[in-house]
Amino acid sequence: MKNKPFTTKKENKIYTGQAYLASLNDGREIWFDGNKVKNVATHPAFRNSARSVARFYDAMHNPDLQEDLLLEDGYGIITHKFFAPSHSRKELDAARHAIAISQRVNYGWMGRTPDYKAAFMGHLADNASFYDQPFQQNAINWYKKTAEKCLFLNHVLVDPPLDRSKERIKVRDVFVSVDKEDSKGIYVSGAKMVATGSMLTHGTFVGLTGNITARMQANRDEDMAVIFFADMNTEGLKMICRPSYEYKATSAFDNPLSGRFDENDAVLVMDKAFIPWENVLVYRDIERAKNFYSGSGFFNRYNLQAGVRLATKMEFMAALLEEGTKTSGTDKFRGIQAALGEILGIRNIIWGMTTAMVNDVTPLGEHGVVPSAEMAASLRYYMATSWDKVRDIYQKYLAGAPIYTISSTKDLHNAAFRPLIDQYYRGTGKDAIDRIKLFKLVWDAMYSEFAGRHALYERNYSGNHDMQRIDVLVQAEKAKSMDSYRNMLQDCMNDYDDKGWTNSWQNLAQKE
Ligand SMILES: Cc1cc2nc3c(=O)[nH]c(=O)nc-3n(C[C@H](O)[C@H](O)[C@H](O)COP(=O)(O)OP(=O)(O)OC[C@H]3O[C@@H](n4cnc5c(N)ncnc54)[C@H](O)[C@@H]3O)c2cc1C
Repeated sequence: MKNKPFTTKKENKIYTGQAYLASLNDGREIWFDGNKVKNVATHPAFRNSARSVARFYDAMHNPDLQEDLLLEDGYGIITHKFFAPSHSRKELDAARHAIAISQRVNYGWMGRTPDYKAAFMGHLADNASFYDQPFQQNAINWYKKTAEKCLFLNHVLVDPPLDRSKERIKVRDVFVSVDKEDSKGIYVSGAKMVATGSMLTHGTFVGLTGNITARMQANRDEDMAVIFFADMNTEGLKMICRPSYEYKATSAFDNPLSGRFDENDAVLVMDKAFIPWENVLVYRDIERAKNFYSGSGFFNRYNLQAGVRLATKMEFMAALLEEGTKTSGTDKFRGIQAALGEILGIRNIIWGMTTAMVNDVTPLGEHGVVPSAEMAASLRYYMATSWDKVRDIYQKYLAGAPIYTISSTKDLHNAAFRPLIDQYYRGTGKDAIDRIKLFKLVWDAMYSEFAGRHALYERNYSGNHDMQRIDVLVQAEKAKSMDSYRNMLQDCMNDYDDKGWTNSWQNLAQKE
């Protein structure tokens, strides 16, 4: 079924920002500071982050952006271009452009906006044959439901960090497993780490990584070989939040990023949660659970979205470094210019990899194309190492400037004290208030608790550091690239032996 260009003749049922915020008030069980959160969209620990997601939705109702952001899919649904399957390189490139517009809304500072999980949902119907027969229709229904409103889904794939050396079945008291089933569905219990942004989403996708399924065995671990969706207000589903940086923020001026882009990372606990059959994709099926990570297209596509998001964040960091060094009067120094060039180079490598990914595609399902897994794995590895380089640059080249600020806006608003600030806090070409505003932003990006969490996120959100590298090797083996490299090495060694150059090399030389 072909995608068509966006048209205003079909109803656009995608949530508006307001409708999205209203949709979150559904009785979901969120725990924060010893209390159940009544309405996440109005709670001071989450409301600004919720509004940031709402901006993502409002963009899809902006007539100036709609042609670039939206299309009509094969079912006649108006949706975001990355929420629909891509059937050609051109469509995948257009989807990348749509992601880039969506990411600029929040300057690349939220990792889990709705387009992240669209990486999986977009090809769910097209690739329904990946699932076993009773569940194929579920895949189609979930695709349609998600595409129509651009539902925001989170995902939990990783087991909590304990007893990693034991057989998984022996940690059944903590890891997600099926308690029982009946004609209506299944009942599951267990915990998952960590459900980033889950309290602001419409549903959770409970899945498994290759790291986990590698430890599964047939006729032993079937209870744990399950993949399913759960609505956020499912009875027995609990989100247990970490501290909220938004909650601790004192003002927009003092906490310009943490005050509005803090996507809380909750632990998801399921306590005999009921999952209706229509939400199940894989059930007691170890083979499919093992193939899911690579066979669903999710791995190939989430790295495309993540690359566009991180390139956007790098653009922001390049401009911020330039402004910071100008304000300190160091921007024309040779080393500073080299540092800015390095951040731009990192941005361009990431963006260039996304260009490679929309061109180097592999088929998925009957008509779909997704980025090659080899490119996806390589970008994932590179991205996880790149944020630390930016932090290093900021520490060296803005050095102590971000600490030369004031405690809060209250200092600015104290008339007796203010003249001192105006005199001693000015920057090069900037008055004191603008200089302080700039370096408060640098602080939030690089040194606040929010910034520390971002650094951890960029390193780990896509798996542990070993798996990020091992998967590059696994994909090179699958694509036979490694065989070709081995053959080249063998050719080189066949060129000589203990008696000198062999015929194979001399013949080549003679040809020249
Ligand atoms: C801020 C943040 C947000 C996140 N958001 C999400 C999310 O939304 N959804 C989600 O599902 N996950 C999320 N994650 C979790 C993330 O996927 C995991 O943290 C990541 O996969 C790394 O796994 P781990 O922390 O369990 O580390 P581990 O896998 O336990 O690795 C820790 C160390 O042990 C080593 N190790 C582990 N197993 C073995 C082994 N078998 N043999 C040898 N060495 C081993 C690793 O190489 C590594 O050095 C998030 C994480 C962070 C930090």
